[in-house]
Amino acid sequence: MVDQDGDARVHELSISVAEILGQPGAYRDLHISKPLPGVRTPLARVQNDLDAYLRAESVVEGVLVTGEVTAAAVLQCARCLKQLPSEVSVEVCELFYGAGHEPASDEDAYSITGVEIDLEPMMRDAVALALPLNPLCAADCKGLCARCGKDLNLKDCTCQEEEGDSRWAALDALRDRLAQ
Ligand SMILES: [Zn+2]
Ligand SMILES: [Zn+2]
Repeated sequence: MVDQDGDARVHELSISVAEILGQPGAYRDLHISKPLPGVRTPLARVQNDLDAYLRAESVVEGVLVTGEVTAAAVLQCARCLKQLPSEVSVEVCELFYGAGHEPASDEDAYSITGVEIDLEPMMRDAVALALPLNPLCAADCKGLCARCGKDLNLKDCTCQEEEGDSRWAALDALRDRLAQ
């Protein structure tokens, strides 16, 4: 199947490179639209389909995959825990090594299996790395009250001056919010 851009639309993440293998300069353009569940960090997760516009180009060492991967994501503010719809977009440039070209020093290198390359690990890694580790709803988000757990962006509470071990209260508040 070919979409309006003339790219092959791919439904599997294992792509045949039989047509271009061993012909440096030859390439395949790919448009991949596929859910990739489970890509997440503690405060961010990918939703729906990943969209990838990639070019797989034959090079002497194997196949070079370049392009852009985009995904809808839901982030959670690290201070007030509000959910924030977002989008991540990441450029990829990865070499899939052909037989006999695998680098001895890099066990995590991607390689060609037979005449196929499996794009899934590359896409997972790229998107996971692009997810923010410390998302904030606003740079000046006031977060939650360490004692009562109220969202201080909405309303100040009265317990700020009170005594108490706020470290534990903060953890209790966080736990209560996460349990909802
Ligand atoms: Zn916030
Ligand atoms: Zn409070």
